[in-house]
Amino acid sequence: MFGLTFSIHQNGALVRRETRWEDIVKVGRDAKAHLRIDDERASRLHAIIEVASPSDITLVDLGSEAGTIVDGARVNKCKIRPGEHFQIGSTRIELVKVEPWAAAGSAAPPGEEVLRTMILDHHPHDTEGLRALGYWAPPLDLPQVHHFVDASWDANERDAVFAYLHLGEVVRLSGGYSWCRFNCGLVERGFEPITDEDIDQLFSDEEEPPGRTSDPSPATPISLSELLREIRAKPETMGSTCLSDGHFIWPVGLAHYVDKHLVRPPEEFVRHALQQLLLRGIR
Ligand SMILES: [Zn+2]
Repeated sequence: MFGLTFSIHQNGALVRRETRWEDIVKVGRDAKAHLRIDDERASRLHAIIEVASPSDITLVDLGSEAGTIVDGARVNKCKIRPGEHFQIGSTRIELVKVEPWAAAGSAAPPGEEVLRTMILDHHPHDTEGLRALGYWAPPLDLPQVHHFVDASWDANERDAVFAYLHLGEVVRLSGGYSWCRFNCGLVERGFEPITDEDIDQLFSDEEEPPGRTSDPSPATPISLSELLREIRAKPETMGSTCLSDGHFIWPVGLAHYVDKHLVRPPEEFVRHALQQLLLRGIR
């Protein structure tokens, strides 16, 4: 999540500065525009600014009558960097700076509601009897993933939870387009689940200790590091798939947030995951 600070000038004078946190900032005369331009030549929805990353910000004119002017020429679409400006009617808008929101479990960006619960008693897509975690706003009225970043979380415990999140069964395939809400660029991609066969394969790859060739139980524990190697060999995904272990349901992309963006699920789920890994002989 990045904050874009703009300064808005009219007739050569600074009117105001404003910081916006949207991934797509709507610019226009309409009251619903994120960056409101009080200029009679501005269209109601005049342009948008797409924020893919701090170094990849795109200004797109929406076919407005007055046009969007950069360096004296109308543009349909162009990259914009801090320090650069564009003109709508007699209004000059400068992109002053782009800054990441330092998320480490801290305060929300200005104007953002904070919902501190990650585990929901009702799955947002109405799967009965399962507790849900890892479903985020927008578009639903849910928590923001950024509020659960914890860089101080023990890395081994994080790896274990990351691995466990891959062991659920696919319970739901449909769903909307999904994207990483930290804007790292990861979007929905084909999902290859870690199957029971993969796990069995790992077990059977273990060398049998001599003299115990046909002892069926208990299985030799496989190491968490082997499981992690297996998981990391597959492509990362956000997916629109939900996984469940019979108690909890989570979207497949939760693993990415845990691994790459240091998102820490509630202690209740962490304990549950560690216990379930032990029960499955993974340590
Ligand atoms: Zn990401």
